[in-house]
Amino acid sequence: MYAIKVELKLNNAEKTLMNQHIGFSRFCYNYALSIYNQLDHKQYKGGSSKKIDLIKKIFTNITKKNPDFSWTKEMSSRVYQNAFRALKSAFSRHWKGLGSWPKFKKKKHPGSFTVDSSNGVILQEGGQRLKLPTLGIFRTTEAIPKCVSQTYTVSKRGERYYVSFAINAELIPPMSHEVFEPVGIDVNLSEGKYCVISDGTMVTFPKPLKAAITKLGKLQYRNRNKQLGNRKQKILPSNNARKYYKKLARLHKKVADTRNDFLEKLTTSLARKYRHIKLETLNLKGMMANGKLALHIADASFYKFKTLLINKADSHGGFVESVNQWYPSSKLCSNCGHKKSDLKLSERVYKCEKCNSILDRDLNSAINLKLAAGEHITNRVGSTRIKACGHDTADGHGKSCNARKQEANTKVDNFG
Ligand SMILES: [Zn+2]
Repeated sequence: MYAIKVELKLNNAEKTLMNQHIGFSRFCYNYALSIYNQLDHKQYKGGSSKKIDLIKKIFTNITKKNPDFSWTKEMSSRVYQNAFRALKSAFSRHWKGLGSWPKFKKKKHPGSFTVDSSNGVILQEGGQRLKLPTLGIFRTTEAIPKCVSQTYTVSKRGERYYVSFAINAELIPPMSHEVFEPVGIDVNLSEGKYCVISDGTMVTFPKPLKAAITKLGKLQYRNRNKQLGNRKQKILPSNNARKYYKKLARLHKKVADTRNDFLEKLTTSLARKYRHIKLETLNLKGMMANGKLALHIADASFYKFKTLLINKADSHGGFVESVNQWYPSSKLCSNCGHKKSDLKLSERVYKCEKCNSILDRDLNSAINLKLAAGEHITNRVGSTRIKACGHDTADGHGKSCNARKQEANTKVDNFG
């Protein structure tokens, strides 16, 4: 089992439909919770699940028939069922000591709802369309594989709508990668680049993200002396400081959203195209070369990039290998293996003194990563998914990886 999350491409009528169901789901949840909180628990015995079933009966037989609540009849009954189910599991988590007493869902929080099919899984034909039980067929921004699933959760973040659902990995048809041989990816956020792939592909940093980060930096600099009060020294925050921190939080969120969106799309396309991807363990170079971007942004971006890529490669029948961070990928000549001892960060082009080859610095790095020995990494424990090459991850595949590692080792040795 693994989860798919895609963004929905909705028109205004569809957005209204989603908003109505988010509201409906929140309404049912809060309604049930408020009755639950008012129940005389001495009179009603039994567990929370039983009590919620009772509340659901009241809702179905009385509330829904009340003319004031006639709008609920136009809403999907599966959303309604799942809202009650969500409250049950919130209570069950609480009783197990895993969560606090369930809280009311607030309108200002990002909303979501869950909808399922009452008679088993439904088939998704694949492509950029998705069928949501009881709601209809919707467009998605990315293609999904042909698969089956029963339960779908629609969530809203800002003005974007996403749907996530779990599918059985075994049911995905074998996917063929465009590129079967290993590629190295050098992540290096400099000069508007995000990363360079050893086959010469360059991925640029999206402009809206760059603009948002620049704006964030400027805003922080201009307001560097503001402080949001200090309780110990009894200083109250000024109105302008309050406004600034609000603005700052909004901008941080925008940067994070744009960045996540970019990374999701990038990793999906990489995992689809390349079967065998090699990355560095740590992105030290990217962090050093990247003076203008805030370090934590670059750092978090690389961590997220790697995590997403590993998971997506796995679900597409490919895999990611990490190359030791001390491997001098930027100092070696990818053509003859000569090692430069003094390579400045400012040198954007790699010029080899030995074989005279001239190459873009990051591309040279990416090719070296491709040739380096890598170690198979996976984010999931005990994954037994059958790979596209026919080997099982648990045994056969591991063996073939060792064989590859040896092959790569000899290549490194040749560099002398
Ligand atoms: Zn050379």
